[in-house]
Amino acid sequence: MSEIEHRDFTLTVLRVSGFHTWEHEATPEAAAAQKRRWTLNDFDIGKPLGRGKFGHVYLAREKRSNHIVALKVLFKSQLQQSQVEHQLRREVEIQSHLRHPNILRLYGYFYDQKRVYLILEYAAKGELYKELQKSKYFSERRAATYVASLARALIYCHGKHVIHRDIKPENLLVGAQGELKIADFGWSVHTFNRRRTMCGTLDYLPPEMVESVEHDASVDIWSLGVLCYEFLYGVPPFEAKEHSDTYRRIVQVDLKFPPKPAVSSAAKDLISQMLVKDSAQRLPLHKLLEHPWIVQNADPSGTYRG
Ligand code: AMP
Repeated sequence: MSEIEHRDFTLTVLRVSGFHTWEHEATPEAAAAQKRRWTLNDFDIGKPLGRGKFGHVYLAREKRSNHIVALKVLFKSQLQQSQVEHQLRREVEIQSHLRHPNILRLYGYFYDQKRVYLILEYAAKGELYKELQKSKYFSERRAATYVASLARALIYCHGKHVIHRDIKPENLLVGAQGELKIADFGWSVHTFNRRRTMCGTLDYLPPEMVESVEHDASVDIWSLGVLCYEFLYGVPPFEAKEHSDTYRRIVQVDLKFPPKPAVSSAAKDLISQMLVKDSAQRLPLHKLLEHPWIVQNADPSGTYRG
């Protein structure tokens, strides 16, 4: 991968064959919009939607189109302090080129002296994490609907050689129709090579990433398996008090299904086929979509309305 980097967040260009399909998909209006330079004056700022590590997120309306968006405001000083500018650039490059109903759109960005602004699709129903905390765990219908929609989004990403590497409830938002949106591409990579970098929260990491050996797109299958377990049981499968115990449980694939809440054997079968130590043996995502538990439980619309 070769990246042309500009010091001041001018759009960087990915010069990798296979990642250029977005250019053909873009309409002339979208292409023109992409070239356009945004400023804060283009938006009416509304209520705060939340607070992240590096700044705040506000509801906003683009004045000319009346389009409602979420405006994420990041402080350059904090980004520099934490040395995450490169990570943010990569996130912007990758997310802005993805177009899928279950991936949060990144429409554009701009900056001033102190801040960087990301123009994001507004996810009206907020964080999935909070929903999960509220209901403790999800029904099989709801879990299967979410897992199927995420599998479709990840098939799309992997087709563009993008690995997400950080699938977990905190990185998922819910749209107005109840559809899931993958929202954080901070750890994602665009790659043709197998990767060795260590990243993400321990609970969701597969053995090959915990052990820092080479990994590929099948890391996302593992994380989706962990997520599926957490949807159904309310806790991730390898949770432990100490980091070292979580590490050991992941490496040994110490997978246990507690008696409560009651979960069908079909769901357990699917999870067991995803949480496999040998990454080449994990159930491919297109096969996941054909698994009986998904076929019988997932709403074909991909949305959960409660
Ligand atoms: P973040 O900095 O991405 O962690 O965002 C902080 C919080 O803002 C999140 O936890 C959400 O509650 C909210 N938020 C972020 N992005 C959006 C969005 N696109 N739509 C709605 N709420 C959002």
